[in-house]
Amino acid sequence: MKINYEKIKSKALDIFPEICRYRRAIHRNPELSFAEHKTSAFIKDRLNELNIPYKVYAETGVAGTIGSGGVCVALRADIDALPVAEETALEFASENEGVMHACGHDMHTAMLLGAAEILKEYEGELNGCVKLIFQPGEEKLPGGAGLMIKQGVLKNPAPDVIFGQHVNPGEEAGKIGLATGPVMASADELYITLAGKGSHAAQPHQGNDPVMAAAHLINHYQTLLTKFRNPLHPGVLTITSVHGGNAPNIIPDEVKMMGTMRSYNQEWRQEMYGLIEENSKRICDNFGVDCKIDIVKGYPALFNDKPATEFVKNIATDLLGKDNVSEFEPKMWAEDFAYFAREIPAVFWFLGVRPEGIDEMSSLHNSAFAPDETAMINGMALLAGAAIAYLNPDNGFYSQAPASD
Ligand SMILES: [Zn+2]
Ligand SMILES: [Zn+2]
Repeated sequence: MKINYEKIKSKALDIFPEICRYRRAIHRNPELSFAEHKTSAFIKDRLNELNIPYKVYAETGVAGTIGSGGVCVALRADIDALPVAEETALEFASENEGVMHACGHDMHTAMLLGAAEILKEYEGELNGCVKLIFQPGEEKLPGGAGLMIKQGVLKNPAPDVIFGQHVNPGEEAGKIGLATGPVMASADELYITLAGKGSHAAQPHQGNDPVMAAAHLINHYQTLLTKFRNPLHPGVLTITSVHGGNAPNIIPDEVKMMGTMRSYNQEWRQEMYGLIEENSKRICDNFGVDCKIDIVKGYPALFNDKPATEFVKNIATDLLGKDNVSEFEPKMWAEDFAYFAREIPAVFWFLGVRPEGIDEMSSLHNSAFAPDETAMINGMALLAGAAIAYLNPDNGFYSQAPASD
């Protein structure tokens, strides 16, 4: 079967106004991680209308299946919003105060619904099936991906490959960015409490100064980052919050700090847990300060499977033209799609959403984030096109794709 890419593209274009309406409805009613009840109901209504059977996972997650048997391709969209007060003045701006789709998950959800509509037309021709995974709670640990996997979303049918996408304000609307190997970092949260002994600032010798200990720790973490890491492996260890004291003449009892650690290298990540703990305690001992460290382990790094990524890149080029496809520069952001990628070959691509004629737009998680909706045409065409192509026996891909390790 020769795949008619023009047909897929024109279908995406036809349904674009409808998909925009879905996106705006979801945008208007954003819901926080693991509380996406209305969003989940909206998705189920649409799947019912399309006659797509589904199962519910992790309360607000939904997975529908188109076709049956044979090879299975999973497509994933995350559906949750953020605790951000929207400041866009859009006519469909958030009506849920203090909550906003500032990470584009409204578009991810709408595009997957659009892809479902396209794929439904191909149901009779698919040599296998497509699993549509609408995942809750990407923005909040432990993340909805892991929960859905634990509840069996990758079984019955078991996908052979999974594709996902994320909007990217750094690229022009509709352009696809792809990279093999590492694309997103692991992310751990650091919570540090330094308990000293407060004193009059003019009599520091009578206290144990946690502010001084904090200053040494912050500096030492940068030493850990440069002297205990192979410089060829990227890493981040940043203290983002320091709280202690409330007067110029009092040394406080306590300082609290928060921070983040990011990496692509699991071994270094593991080693750092110990180094942070031991070295912090040793440094704090010098000041007679007690140090309590809590490291909340976050998502693992996300690796794109090489053959599957090359496959998607070829499809994207055929479908959207080579000017619309480029190499994505990996980021130290984090994504719980990484959990899917640990189980099966995965490809996570980035979809430009920067409106034409603008050099720089508001970033993800910003209250003014206003992506260009026309990007959804290419986004849903590629989701559907990649699935159709993967299931096409003539491409021979799945018979030769090695399992990734
Ligand atoms: Zn986000
Ligand atoms: Zn996101």
